[in-house]
Amino acid sequence: MTPAAAAGSLEEEHEALLSFMYLSPIGIIRSSLTGEVDMLNPLSVQLLMPLAGLLGVTNIFESLSHVAPELRNLVSSFNGERGPVCEGHRIVVTPDRERSTVLSCNILKINESTLMTTLTDISRQVEAERRARQNESWLAGIFTSVNDFAFFTLDANGHVDSWNPSIEQMTGYAETDVVGHSLDRFYASDDIDAYRSPEHIALTREEGWHVQECWCQGKDGRRYAAQILVAVLREDDGEFAGYSVVLRDVSERKISSDELTRLLTTDHLTGAMNRAHFFKVAEKEVARSKRLGKPLSFVMIDADHFKKINDTAGHQAGDKVLERIVAEARRSLRSIDVIARLGGEEFCLMLRGTPADAAALIAEGIRANIEASRIDTAVGEQAVTVSLGCASLSHALASMHDLLAAADKSLYAAKAAGRNRVAGQS
Ligand code: GH3
Ligand code: MG
Ligand code: MG
Repeated sequence: MTPAAAAGSLEEEHEALLSFMYLSPIGIIRSSLTGEVDMLNPLSVQLLMPLAGLLGVTNIFESLSHVAPELRNLVSSFNGERGPVCEGHRIVVTPDRERSTVLSCNILKINESTLMTTLTDISRQVEAERRARQNESWLAGIFTSVNDFAFFTLDANGHVDSWNPSIEQMTGYAETDVVGHSLDRFYASDDIDAYRSPEHIALTREEGWHVQECWCQGKDGRRYAAQILVAVLREDDGEFAGYSVVLRDVSERKISSDELTRLLTTDHLTGAMNRAHFFKVAEKEVARSKRLGKPLSFVMIDADHFKKINDTAGHQAGDKVLERIVAEARRSLRSIDVIARLGGEEFCLMLRGTPADAAALIAEGIRANIEASRIDTAVGEQAVTVSLGCASLSHALASMHDLLAAADKSLYAAKAAGRNRVAGQS
């Protein structure tokens, strides 16, 4: 290579180096050991300008003196001939939590009179780290402070593979009690259904997530109504990685919804089923009994001369009589039977699986019980009687409407025949 060619290629290299510095995404500054700048690229001007102000960047330590006064000391206490003075030294330029600018600073001593400093804007990375730390502390807060939720994960086979304090707080189970077990671990012993857990997992795989409500049990045996949400977990690349689970104690919510159901379906005075709900239940039961070929009977009950009780003993005494009629009737009923208040002093029984003769016997028992009972009122003990009319499912009486009309007709017959008696369909 001729000297001219060598000089040419050196010049080319120099050009390449300059353009690298010019375009570099990193701020590059060459200075003396005391910080006097003799070369810097555009990005470092951009990064340092807000600190250096209008005077410009003449001394790097001067420019950074407000935000990184320690740099001077770092350099003066560096004893080596050459080598890194600092690496990844963080400098917070704007201490604004929302939009802070953070620089990462490397200072390299390249000989006894020269420093090369690089500055990189790592604000985004710092912000991401801050968010991750915040998420982590939120999660830690949730894991340790909630006691009606438990969060955990399942492996690809549906077995618990992670543990955190939220599980123990809610269920009482320690890590060794649950890790490696399926969701079966949490179900109440009397609500275990061999297919529940695999089915839940299968539906989650199909739909992405699935919620199930069931009875669960803690380590101490406490039963609670639970809602279990299982969702598919995926890696960043979309690869299936198992499941995340939220196990929630919904006992309180269940109690309040049970209470709401009770309010919507019962008569507040007597506790009997209310009229609207009775018609719904009766309609369904007629259809079900017909489908299964099972007997079904209705008994209409009406207090005798009830108006007289109200008039002589007062409205409150009348209310007591209504409550007593329901209480006396209930003594003769099974849990699957229904007593409803259709209005005023009129009630209806629905006796499942009960044919006409058995219904007539039950009706007679209720009649006798009520006749024998005495009700305390402001004007002394009162006796009360009822009349009852029965009707049973048959080819002729095949709809709820037919059955109730027939029972009503029987009741009218009992009243006409002198009251305090039972009449069946003729
Ligand atoms: P019968 O033997 O023919 O059935 O005569 P009754 O007096 O029982 O029948 P009637 O239909 O003439 O009177 C029913 C009375 O029931 C009239 C009404 O004031 C009273 N009543 C309706 N609902 C209630 C209630 O919730 N509480 C009370 N205390 N009385 C009621
Ligand atoms: Mg009456
Ligand atoms: Mg009446």
